[in-house]
Amino acid sequence: MIAVLKRGTTDKEMQSLINWFEDQGLKVHVSKGEYETIIGLIGDTSRIDADLVESLDMVETVKRISEPFKKANRKFHPDDTVIKVGDTLIGGKNLTVIAGPCSVESEEQIVEVAKAVKDAGATLLRGGAFKPRTSPYDFQGLHEEGIKLLLTAKKETGLPIVTEIMNANHIPLFEEVDVIQVGARNMQNFELLKELGKLNKPVLLKRGLANTFKELLMSAEYIMAGGNEQVILCERGIRTFETYTRNTLDISAVPVLKELSHLPVIIDPSHATGMSRLVKPMAFAAVAAGADGLMIEVHNNPSKALCDGAQSLTPAQFADVMQGVEKIRKVIE
Ligand code: PEP
Ligand code: MN
Repeated sequence: MIAVLKRGTTDKEMQSLINWFEDQGLKVHVSKGEYETIIGLIGDTSRIDADLVESLDMVETVKRISEPFKKANRKFHPDDTVIKVGDTLIGGKNLTVIAGPCSVESEEQIVEVAKAVKDAGATLLRGGAFKPRTSPYDFQGLHEEGIKLLLTAKKETGLPIVTEIMNANHIPLFEEVDVIQVGARNMQNFELLKELGKLNKPVLLKRGLANTFKELLMSAEYIMAGGNEQVILCERGIRTFETYTRNTLDISAVPVLKELSHLPVIIDPSHATGMSRLVKPMAFAAVAAGADGLMIEVHNNPSKALCDGAQSLTPAQFADVMQGVEKIRKVIE
């Protein structure tokens, strides 16, 4: 981090700032030019509040040279992180597809969908048991019963399960869940992230509706700082001025996040578009961009789905997407 001082700053003022930085365990390098003085900070500046420093009378501007995320940063961990879930690997040279309904509705539904997505090549089963709905009057999920049904589907198919948590008090219910999802709405629920940081279980962290890449990485850092380094990043579309699609899929998330971080990056084309017919082209784009995986909503009867039917693929449509995905993967390999 560097701080450029305002012209006219006295040596005494500068020394007081230097002392303050040194008290925080940092080494200080002063560069006095003809027109301006720059203070360079050497060491772990992640705890320094850059906005606070910039607000000081004597400071013209502050610039971070190294990012405040350390554990998620590719600079300190050049190799891709590969996360093992059952027999499936996420990250590295693997392309992992997570599929299943938006929400678990019944045993028949989840088992039927699980079998279909497995046959088509998915290696993880998704399904919401605790649903973050915009309206309190909409279906909220089957809660504990939903997790039990996911475990039944896992038993039937062998597919590991991914399901969303909304409240840290529910962690005991997720003991047998293979991957815990943090949804877009909770990406910055820092107390929840800290609790998940204490677990030894992969966390699929979705990008918030209006969050930057750096904010997503800082949220991953919350989980990793607690000791749980098994984080999977997921781009699921962001809010823009465009309202035709449910969200706007930011494909640049793949190369950008993979450049900044060693964590696996997957794309959710279902929530990104909100329309089943757009899932296939966006899934293809994600794979072409180098995504480590996809998360796709599949329902055995989308028109009757209790949640997100419009964006859900039928098992046949999903199988078709999987075939195309495989072809694109071969081309970019
Ligand atoms: C989901 O995956 O079921 C979900 C609610 O997604 P998001 O948090 O991205 O809206
Ligand atoms: Mn959904």
